[in-house]
Amino acid sequence: MASEKKEIKTIGVLTSGGDAPGMNAAIRAVVRRGLGRGLKVYGIYRGYDGLMEEDLKELTGKDVSDTIQKGGTVLYTARCAEMRTLEGQKHAAETCRKYGIEGLVVIGGDGSYRGAQCLAHQGINVVGVPGTIDLDISCTEYTIGFDTSVNTAMEAIDKVRDTSTSHERCSIIEVMGRNAGYLALWCGIANGAEDILLPEKYDYDEQKIIDNIIDSRRRGKKHHIIINAEGVGHSASMARRLEAATGIETRATILGHMQRGGSPTAKDRVYASIMGCMAVDLLMEGKSERVVGYKNGKFQDFDIDEALAMVKGIDEYQYEIATAMSGGYKKDAKVKRS
Ligand code: ATP
Repeated sequence: MASEKKEIKTIGVLTSGGDAPGMNAAIRAVVRRGLGRGLKVYGIYRGYDGLMEEDLKELTGKDVSDTIQKGGTVLYTARCAEMRTLEGQKHAAETCRKYGIEGLVVIGGDGSYRGAQCLAHQGINVVGVPGTIDLDISCTEYTIGFDTSVNTAMEAIDKVRDTSTSHERCSIIEVMGRNAGYLALWCGIANGAEDILLPEKYDYDEQKIIDNIIDSRRRGKKHHIIINAEGVGHSASMARRLEAATGIETRATILGHMQRGGSPTAKDRVYASIMGCMAVDLLMEGKSERVVGYKNGKFQDFDIDEALAMVKGIDEYQYEIATAMSGGYKKDAKVKRS
């Protein structure tokens, strides 16, 4: 449960887990908001590794100038195995105490929040900011980096579609998202894909895809785009099986890490700035074990335990619309608004 704690004078900020475009805007906001409110702000390098190795630096406002437009994270990021152990968590908390860090802003995904929760159990105030391209944090409808990532993937898929049409091919394009299908769902709608395979929905019935490819070819379609989520995977072997079954040349393209890079969109810069400032404000209010989110049109904070306990599913109405746009319009749509 969240707890009210005493006012703080020094905070730290780190980025953890996979990097996401817009993380720099959030770091910049934490630093400048913190300095503006009279705090000392430490930047901790390489996520929780920086606390293990005392790799941290007091930041000035200038240290974060010229960063809002940059992809990646200027604090670097890492996956820190030691943080999963009680010994590591105590070590991380000791480093915070040594530098007087009473409040920590953790920018990352749900794994990073679990690390933050462990630090809170060791007496450090923590606030999480959702930084992940996967949009897989249940309490929020927005995560930093998703907007840039989906736009990057969309542009790449448009290019694959051009060559797919020229060669009258079928293309399977695998997008990131780990076990979450939101990136694939959005690319599916934005790119007008014929099939969208999501880990939350896919029934592994390849015959349906084969029938769909053959049917769309009969209707005169020159291409067939299948967006496959990372959580389903196996695009190369799927392409071989589909080609063998349909006789239509089928290629797999895995977009990979390019989806993490690039200059953040305006939305990612603005939302990340608001969320970074809000994290500092929450710490200044004496709050801990909270995560910042965006829900029902508002920036809000949530209890970290509740945020981690909730399971994020695919929005059924969005999924139904994606299916309807990809050829489901021929059938009777079961429309149910959520
Ligand atoms: P992304 O969604 O982009 O992968 P993430 O924050 O979920 O981001 P993880 O690799 O799951 O990425 O977690 C990042 C780091 O958080 C881990 O390397 C580890 O240091 C810490 N962490 C993850 N899970 C736990 C846990 N259960 N207990 C303590 N620390 C954890």
